[in-house]
Amino acid sequence: MQFLTSFQLLERINALLSSEARKRYAALGIQPVHVQVLEYLSLCNHYSDTPAALTEYLGLTKGTVSQSLQILERKGYISKTQDMHDGRVVHLQLLDAGLDILHKVQPLDIFTEAEETLLHREFRSVRHALGATLQVLQQANNSKSFGLCNTCKHFTEIDGHTHCGLTDEPLHREVIQKICREHEFR
Ligand code: SF4
Repeated sequence: MQFLTSFQLLERINALLSSEARKRYAALGIQPVHVQVLEYLSLCNHYSDTPAALTEYLGLTKGTVSQSLQILERKGYISKTQDMHDGRVVHLQLLDAGLDILHKVQPLDIFTEAEETLLHREFRSVRHALGATLQVLQQANNSKSFGLCNTCKHFTEIDGHTHCGLTDEPLHREVIQKICREHEFR
């Protein structure tokens, strides 16, 4: 995985975690933005539990936030109450059902698994650490690695002749520099 830059590794880790999260959210009938709202309400204090503060925090449009709040209220995950001193201000509360959803979506199992696997390893650079993290996440998620030949279990090099054991074909030098869909770590 070290042929990718740190930025590309982060992007791939993000894509993998997002796809894992999407599966989890879909099973619960919830959108990523809904989880962000519930997370925020589990963290914010009583000066910050308003739709305006939430909109500011998420950096989304008022319309998107308002629509999400309606859905979450309908599902019984949050409630709204008027401020005791200013009738124009509404406060949002996370209800037990919303908290339950948060517990179900976090932490992502594969990330916990990766953290445990990498706990005692040392890395010589951030890029190496990210590469190892991505590899562990891919393995935990059973997703394809899209790696290079020199880390693949099907790759052999004898007397300068490079060969793919999967396709039983010789590999030209330029081919082994490219990522492969069939790659499997040794
Ligand atoms: S399966 Fe792909 S990555 Fe593995 S040796 Fe063959 S061509 Fe290379």
